[in-house]
Amino acid sequence: MTGKVYLVGAGPGDYKLLTLKGLECIKKADVIVYDRLANINYLKEAKPNCEFIYVGKASSNHALPQDEINKVIADKAKEGKIVTRLKGGDPYVFGRGGEEGEVLVSEGVDFEVVPGITSAIGGLCYAGIPITHRDHASSFHVITGHLRDDEKENEELNWNALANNRGTLVFLMGVSNLKKISENLIREGKSKDTPVALISWATRPNQSVITSTLENVYEIALKENVKPPTLIAIGSVVELREKLNFFEKKPLFGKNILVTRSRTQSSSLVEKIMDLGGNPIEIPTIKIEKIENNIELEDQIKNIKEYTYLVLTSKNGVDIFFDKLNEIGLDSRSLANIKVCAVGSQTVKSIEERGIKADIVPNIFVSEHLYEELKPILNSNDKILMPRAKNARDYLTKNLSTICTVKEVHTYETVIDSSKKEAIIELLNEGNVDYITFASSSTVTNFIEIVGKENIDKLQGIKMISIGAITSKTAKELGLNIYKEADEATIDGIIKSIQEDK
Ligand code: SAH
Repeated sequence: MTGKVYLVGAGPGDYKLLTLKGLECIKKADVIVYDRLANINYLKEAKPNCEFIYVGKASSNHALPQDEINKVIADKAKEGKIVTRLKGGDPYVFGRGGEEGEVLVSEGVDFEVVPGITSAIGGLCYAGIPITHRDHASSFHVITGHLRDDEKENEELNWNALANNRGTLVFLMGVSNLKKISENLIREGKSKDTPVALISWATRPNQSVITSTLENVYEIALKENVKPPTLIAIGSVVELREKLNFFEKKPLFGKNILVTRSRTQSSSLVEKIMDLGGNPIEIPTIKIEKIENNIELEDQIKNIKEYTYLVLTSKNGVDIFFDKLNEIGLDSRSLANIKVCAVGSQTVKSIEERGIKADIVPNIFVSEHLYEELKPILNSNDKILMPRAKNARDYLTKNLSTICTVKEVHTYETVIDSSKKEAIIELLNEGNVDYITFASSSTVTNFIEIVGKENIDKLQGIKMISIGAITSKTAKELGLNIYKEADEATIDGIIKSIQEDK
């Protein structure tokens, strides 16, 4: 068994700015060694037993010295493991990737490098600054701002050449030397009016950009308390930011939105928030536990011909039902003579994915409306199958069984996931959350149970968005103030409520 090391560029921070190859390396890793600039959400893509080693670096104080990082990587690979070394941006742009590679070669460890989008290019791009432009800059220069602090300082960089070429200059790791950088460039002849942008946490939801001139940038950086990680972009391309700043103009840019749903269900909301430039913070409040060895479900599916209606009320319900159907060797054709009813657009979509168009979908996505639609068309000979959650509301079963036979089969259970309590409290204490979304009554109940009634006051000032009336009611009963209720009880409805809030 031989191990291998992948030096992977994790890109500048935006979750989706990672290569397919990089993602593949994360998925197959036994060990992931990562630092501060790699987006930690990538770790969610790792295998269940993957080991994570943080070797965070803040520009001058190294959490783990480079020698030790090299040693950890090589040793783990020698144990026969696949090691993915995740580095912010591109591994070979000031990431000391070259040194890590050299050590691996000398230790006889197999390795490969996966390039990434360097912050020098991707970061400028997200700040609305094209690094080259026919009318502005025909070259660019990426320079370390981490300068030597001795008499050799001025030999390290050729300031005269940097000051007198017309390309865009991008300094990395330069915030603490901003004064020296601007002074050296001006001294060697660069115009003091040259536009400069300081781009912090580029491509992230907390990206912030300050523009100035070479002459004033140091003062402004002091005043605004600019901290690493920051890119210093120098050149007239900075002026294009006015026009080309697409990222910060996204409708949810800068909004931190806590999404309370079970992990399996929240992805579409999270995805949409990300697309609109917001920062989704996913808090799992419930987890779905499928009821295993479900003989009852199996028996009812085998008897499916006896039923006239199949009612599905959640994506999980749909998935478990159809998986079972397939598992016992049947497919959607066995539902040919049965009317399929669905509550919720996600449910409808999941049913469609199984090749079936739902026959009855209430316009308003709640059980009460399904009942109203079914009431006039059902008669006492009908038989309804309802595979659903053990702890689902009993409204439908209770009312429908006054008309005909209803068979409810429990297929899964939602249980509270308290594993993130401390992380949630910490987040609330930091005070950076703008919105909390509740997409069902149970997420409200569970969220409050996890956070604890004693911490409810920490939610003050956060705008709470509810998917619909029932969820709002539950929230109010628990002492929460719902800020807005979605017009349409869907994920898009929630998004719309946030987008419309100015
Ligand atoms: N290999 C990395 C650079 C590592 S050096 C790359 O290719 O991007 C670390 C420096 O990169 C930081 O001090 C900062 O100047 C810059 N940097 C990296 N990511 C950044 C980001 N998201 N926003 C601003 N600067 C960033």
